Amino acid sequence: MGQVTPAPRSAAPHARPSTGTRLDPWIDSYADRTHGMRASEIRALFAVASRPEVVSLAGGMPNLAGLPLDSLAESAQRLIATRGATALQYGSGQGDQTLREQILEVMRLEGIDAHPDDVVVTTGSQQALDLVTRLFINPGDVIVAEAPSYVGALGVFRAYQAEVVHVPLDEHGLVPEALDEALTRLAAEGRTVKLIYTVPNFHNPAGVTLSLERRPRVLEIAQRHGVLLVEDNPYGLLGFSGEPLPAMRSLDDEGVIYLGSFSKTFAPGYRVGWAVAPHAVREKLVLASESAILCPSNASQLAISTYLAEHDWKGQIKAFREMYRERRDAMVSALSEHIPEASWTVPDGGFYTWVRLPDGLDAQAMLPRAITALVAYVSGTAFYADGQGADHMRLSFCYPTPERIREGVRRLSTVVDGEREL
Ligand code: PMP
Repeated sequence: MGQVTPAPRSAAPHARPSTGTRLDPWIDSYADRTHGMRASEIRALFAVASRPEVVSLAGGMPNLAGLPLDSLAESAQRLIATRGATALQYGSGQGDQTLREQILEVMRLEGIDAHPDDVVVTTGSQQALDLVTRLFINPGDVIVAEAPSYVGALGVFRAYQAEVVHVPLDEHGLVPEALDEALTRLAAEGRTVKLIYTVPNFHNPAGVTLSLERRPRVLEIAQRHGVLLVEDNPYGLLGFSGEPLPAMRSLDDEGVIYLGSFSKTFAPGYRVGWAVAPHAVREKLVLASESAILCPSNASQLAISTYLAEHDWKGQIKAFREMYRERRDAMVSALSEHIPEASWTVPDGGFYTWVRLPDGLDAQAMLPRAITALVAYVSGTAFYADGQGADHMRLSFCYPTPERIREGVRRLSTVVDGEREL
């Protein structure tokens, strides 16, 4: 065989661009949709906040201490031993049939009456958010979202080059009049509004819940303007008092895409969530999901299905609710004791308190000093598409113990006091 002389690099049709002094030689090759992608502030904080000496009020990690790990391990082992050929195989793009039936039972707790065919299992509800956005958003289309909004949703919306228009929240959730006004104004401007994105229960980051009275009003406004509503509901079963409110999807099955998740009521590590959408949308969701991941993990789905069948999952949710309620109480009483000049929401469920700082303080600017004082939080700016929010911070009470929460808020108060003296 003759010797092959490699072509000089510069002569190759797709020659690698010169690296020069740039860090990323492919900088000119990325698609336009990547321009809005940036590391979430929470991820950037994660390394610092997970140092043991730091009290992290930043992350939204559920506390898994109460899970029956021994019995879950036994179930997982048995699953592979008895149904390994299925659990370790590819599965249906729409998700495991038995799990979809069990998901109906979970959703019934919030008044949703659906059929197993209505459910599309996804890799966490985060993937469902990605799929929905992929299906509906052309660059420049508008998504109306609460101010503030879940940071992970904003990241997806940016990645698909949506324009986010914020509508205010108050202590009763999304303000219907403001929604109506925004949709009317956007229509008059000739803008294409594709989705309304809302977290109606125990909002991330605001901690508030859309009142029962507002739910049909918000749906009526969405219907009148002909805009699909995305109901993102990972926290709905984690209420601290009373029964869960009826899901928006239970009031309207044609105009709502409902997103659910096992991340907060069981375990995020399995990465199982789901979407329930109007019929035609659902078929497209399955196609989009198949092209993204072929199918959700059978091993994860069967593990969750086994958990739901064999464990007292409702009792587990009740235990989580009690644990989180105690932590919410610790957070709120520590805020009253140490930072009474701030104001905050008192969530009736979920993981988060939304704190408004005393006038003139900037949560983002203050963060390095907070880290020095060994406490972490997420600055409010992470939760807006337009740079607002520096006067707020999100404090999570899900992960640290009540004692650590109290100590974290005490440390935070020293930082706030220091700022006010500057
Ligand atoms: N929506 C909201 C409002 C969330 O808070 C989260 C997780 N923090 C998600 C969606 C994504 O959850 P998962 O992908 O784990 O289901």
